[in-house]
Amino acid sequence: MAFELPSLPYALDALEPHIDARTMEIHHGKHHNGYTTKLNDAIEGTALEGSGIEAILSGLDMSNAAVRNNGGGYYNHCLFWEVMGPDQGEMSNELSEAINKAFGSFDGFKDAFSKAAATQFGSGWAWLCVHKDGSLDVCGTPNQDNPLMPNVGCGGTPILGLDVWEHAYYLNYQNRRPDYIEAFFNVVNWSEVSKRYASR
Ligand code: MN
Repeated sequence: MAFELPSLPYALDALEPHIDARTMEIHHGKHHNGYTTKLNDAIEGTALEGSGIEAILSGLDMSNAAVRNNGGGYYNHCLFWEVMGPDQGEMSNELSEAINKAFGSFDGFKDAFSKAAATQFGSGWAWLCVHKDGSLDVCGTPNQDNPLMPNVGCGGTPILGLDVWEHAYYLNYQNRRPDYIEAFFNVVNWSEVSKRYASR
């Protein structure tokens, strides 16, 4: 069973004005679709065919550039669409307490995450990750790498991710990455992030 491009869980214009419909259309329909197709091409006929994406990434041979880039791109965007939404939901007490413990406060978390996103040189992602013991970490990773991969970033399981590739924001924000990062916090679906924290 090949990987499939998931449908967006909301309309293309649902995240406006923070993320515009045209960016969503190209980002999902072209970029994410491209990673999905190329991942399938890269694993076809290999031992990885039929494995789940988490297993592929956690056991990744980092020298396998095609699977690293396209498997990362496939997984990262699947997560990205789901942790955003027009309805921001509610953060669980459990996640709120873990954030306070790791970063002092929600604002402390927001600063750490925003800094990781703003200082990631070139293309990449910022992540909030949970470790097996429930503790949280923030990190940035280059290109389509993510912390599920061996010895990448802070380790753990990503429960929130922000794409800082220019294709994610350039149409609306041009080079103003900090404005895009600030706007992202208006479309985070905290119910979904809380669900992912709870199912670690
Ligand atoms: Mn992207």
